[in-house]
Amino acid sequence: MNKLYFQLVTPEKKVLSQELVSLSCPTKLGQITILPGHIPLVATLVPGELHAKTENDDFYLHVSGGFLEVQKGSKIIVLADAAEHDFEIDIKRAEEAKLRAEKALKEQKISEEEYAQVSASLEKSLSRLNIKRKHAHRKVPITGGGVFKE
Ligand code: ATP
Repeated sequence: MNKLYFQLVTPEKKVLSQELVSLSCPTKLGQITILPGHIPLVATLVPGELHAKTENDDFYLHVSGGFLEVQKGSKIIVLADAAEHDFEIDIKRAEEAKLRAEKALKEQKISEEEYAQVSASLEKSLSRLNIKRKHAHRKVPITGGGVFKE
């Protein structure tokens, strides 16, 4: 048992289904790394970078939140609210979302509910921008399925 059997899904689509050597994800308790043979676990995800490592490739994705479940037998399921590969992140859209959130936070009259919503939006846009910038010089994928061209 030296592989992780990994699936990442959102309400919109199946994002990634791969055999991995390790998985690192952003949880409420901090970034955690799962290796084959990990004990069963359920964790809540927060906005941040998910790193799925196969024998030959590395996938870096933004996840907005959701759940991680590590099952017996090294099966891992991530149910994410939203997820995008680094190369799918639209930097202009994330920058606009960040500016919108920052502007809304400066408003005098903002309810607690709005404040929580806008803070979450800011956190997501900052995470998307960080991931995009961190991996800006990575090779461009051809299929998104692990094939990269020079
Ligand atoms: P926005 O305010 O720009 O709509 P959001 O944070 O409200 O962003 P989400 O609700 O998290 O967006 O996601 C909605 C859909 O849009 C998901 O499919 C997500 O993958 C996609 N998405 C959101 N922001 C970006 C982005 N900057 N680049 C690429 N896809 C994005």
